[in-house]
Amino acid sequence: MKNLHNALQLKQLYLLKQLGYRYTDITPSKLEADTHDLPHTLPSLQQIVSKCHLCTLSKSRHKTVFGEGNEQTEVMFVGEGPGATEDSTGRPFVGRAGELLTKMIENVLFVPRSEVYIANIVKCRPPGNRVPTESEAFTCRPYLLRQIEIIRPRIIVTLGATAYRYLTNDPSPISRVRGRVIPAENYTLIPTFHPSYLLRNPSAKKEAFVDMKKVKEMMETR
Ligand code: URA
Repeated sequence: MKNLHNALQLKQLYLLKQLGYRYTDITPSKLEADTHDLPHTLPSLQQIVSKCHLCTLSKSRHKTVFGEGNEQTEVMFVGEGPGATEDSTGRPFVGRAGELLTKMIENVLFVPRSEVYIANIVKCRPPGNRVPTESEAFTCRPYLLRQIEIIRPRIIVTLGATAYRYLTNDPSPISRVRGRVIPAENYTLIPTFHPSYLLRNPSAKKEAFVDMKKVKEMMETR
C-alpha cells in the first residue's frame, strides 16, 4: 500500500514538474485524486469497489460498504467509514449510529431514508473503528468522488470531523464549521456532527437539529 501511495505521489510530482513547477510545498496527497479510469454507473463502480485491494483495510474487511439510497436524490450524506454492523451487512449506517441518522433524516427532512444517498469516506471498516488514515482516505477518495459525480447531489451533509476534513481537505475543527452552509463547485456542503458523537454527547443533538433544518430549508428552495 505504501508503494502505491508513493507511486501516486510521484506521479503527481511529475505532473507538477511538467506544469513548470520547480519547487512545491503542496502535499501531493492533498491534490485531487484521479477518477479517470472509473466507471460512470453506480453498479459498475460498486463492482470495482467490491474487489478493491488498494489499501490494507481490504485485508480485514468482511464486506465492502459502497453506499446506498436514491441515485436521483438531491441530498447525500457522507460518513467516516463502516463499523462492525456495516462490515458484516455491507450496508452503511445500520448500527446504532445508523438508527440515529435514520431518525434525523426521517424526522427532520421528512423523507424516508431510502430517498437520500448515504456513503462513507472509506468503503472498508478500519479495524477497531479507528479513524481512517490519510493514506486510506486518499486511496478511497476516487470512489467517493465518482459517486458524487454520478449522483450530482445539490446538498452534501458531511457527518463528523473526519468526513468533513477528508472531503474538503480543510483541517478546521468541526466545532467551527458545523452548521455552515458552504458553497462548493457543484454542490452546497453542510457539515454536521457524526451520529456516534451525538450518541455520546446527547446535548449536541440540538445543534445537529438546527443543521438538519438548514438542509430541509435548502431542499425546499430552488
Ligand atoms: N459510521 C460511519 O461513519 N459510517 C457508517 O457507515 C457507520 C458508522
